[in-house]
Amino acid sequence: MKIELPALPYEMNALAPNISAKTLEFHYGKHHQAYVTNLNNLIPGTKFENASLETMIMEAEGPIFNNAAQVWNHTFYFSGLQQANTSEPHKQIAAAIKSSFGSYAEFKDAFIKAATTLFGSGWVWLVKTAAGNLKIIQENNAGNPLRIGLKPILTCDVWEHAYYLDYQNRRPDYLNAFWNLIDWDVVEKRF
Ligand code: MN
Repeated sequence: MKIELPALPYEMNALAPNISAKTLEFHYGKHHQAYVTNLNNLIPGTKFENASLETMIMEAEGPIFNNAAQVWNHTFYFSGLQQANTSEPHKQIAAAIKSSFGSYAEFKDAFIKAATTLFGSGWVWLVKTAAGNLKIIQENNAGNPLRIGLKPILTCDVWEHAYYLDYQNRRPDYLNAFWNLIDWDVVEKRF
């Protein structure tokens, strides 16, 4: 089964100036595409030839895991964003944030701190536990919480390629920009 690059749910300039069209052209058009291409070159002749991305994330190791998780993670990241400041946390997620983190402000601080302090390349995730609570976790490289039984709700890509063209080494500036772009309608549905 050929893995396809999903279409972006918005135009390349939809996230500007928080994330520029130039960044999306590289991040989606080159990096995300490269993970799709790599994966399609890796799986023929293996037991993952007809597997879903989720199966590869759960069961594969090495290059197949890395590329499958990166395809999935980027699709999840891009589909959780929209034009800046057009939505706010809805009822269910707002209540879960309050019960899990104390307040929306404490949640935002904790998420941004986790994203700022993740060393090197990786992903910060808001996840739902089996008990129904929310947690923030850091994953290195292509790490994905499905592998440890947690349900992804929101993610931020902190690989340098996600922000270097717009913010150079200023990861905190990118994180604040990212925060403006969260699509809370999507987050509520995932929760
Ligand atoms: Mn990326």
